[in-house]
Amino acid sequence: GSAAMALSLAACSGEGAGSGGDTSGEKPASLTIGVAMPTQTSERWIADGKAVKEKLEAKGYKVDLQYAGDDIPTQSQQVDQMITQGADVLIIAAIDGTALSGQLQAAADAKIPVIAYDRLIRGSKNVDFYVSFDNYKVGVAQATALLVGLGLQNKDGSKGSATGPFNVELFAGSLDDNNTQYFFGGAMDTLKPFLDNGSLRVKSGQTRIEQAATLRWQQETAQKRMEDLLTSSYADGTQVHGVLAPYDGISRGIITALQNVGYGRGKKKLPVVTGQDAEVASIKLINDGVQSSTVFKDLRLLAEQAVLAAEAYLKDQQPQANDTKTYDNGVKVVPAYLLPIQTVYKDNIKPVLIDSGYYTAEEVAAGQ
Ligand code: BGC
Repeated sequence: GSAAMALSLAACSGEGAGSGGDTSGEKPASLTIGVAMPTQTSERWIADGKAVKEKLEAKGYKVDLQYAGDDIPTQSQQVDQMITQGADVLIIAAIDGTALSGQLQAAADAKIPVIAYDRLIRGSKNVDFYVSFDNYKVGVAQATALLVGLGLQNKDGSKGSATGPFNVELFAGSLDDNNTQYFFGGAMDTLKPFLDNGSLRVKSGQTRIEQAATLRWQQETAQKRMEDLLTSSYADGTQVHGVLAPYDGISRGIITALQNVGYGRGKKKLPVVTGQDAEVASIKLINDGVQSSTVFKDLRLLAEQAVLAAEAYLKDQQPQANDTKTYDNGVKVVPAYLLPIQTVYKDNIKPVLIDSGYYTAEEVAAGQ
């Protein structure tokens, strides 16, 4: 806020011209938190932005919430503007985890703490804190749900009754998102023994993350790749039994491609398709037996952690981390607060999502 600027300029003339510095004596109403979110095409980021904004405003802070339409220059510009307009803390969910170094240097010069939101920002020492979920475990959960759906493993981790071999295809997220390597890494570590013993096989041979990746996590891109895989590797009538999908939008693109060639009709059963985010459109599909599973990450808790971290900085304290080892951004290990995740199948939609108030039964039935 402007009061902080006046104070810090008076107290230490010559020190960074921003509004940052010691804000601990200030009233919330004179403090602004800049919140940079990647896109509104996925419902999760809309929910994230809304939850963070509401929680901060409930505490009396001002919030500058911006969405960048998944465009890197737009996000850089938005963060630049937050800095010049005197943000006191930044909360950033980056589109490209490596593209914001210049902005982060400007933030550091102005003594504005930076919290990476859900996606780690890479290649900069000026990332102060990270709030996210256990992203490696997300990948493990996705692969486990694939194994459970195929019957190769039971939910308790014991060996399932099926033996395969099953034909599976693998999808990964956007390579510029730091989470992608954790999701895919966790999944591949889990699938490896089954690929090695032949109970799973990837007919396309596309098992490397670069081959499996989906730029900007786009549904259409995933649908197109699935169509190409079906044409190139399954035109002989071989059935696809499972698809590892890292995000519900990607899952729905994959399902559409499969349905377009007759899966889900007659004897051609839809493959086991995984997901992430518990988007309501996918929860409906899971409820209807179309998508197999998703990984639920409670965004209410993530927003809460981001707010706690922001508030700590505003009070000139350090936010509390529960992980100080995992998230090396290439320059430093960023202290993190990681939240737990939960796999959702048809049979636990009610206890996990409805009884907790995340969705109403009507929303699940309608898919919106
Ligand atoms: C998030 C996922 C999300 C994906 C696509 C990742 O960084 O962790 O929850 O599905 O981005 O938006």
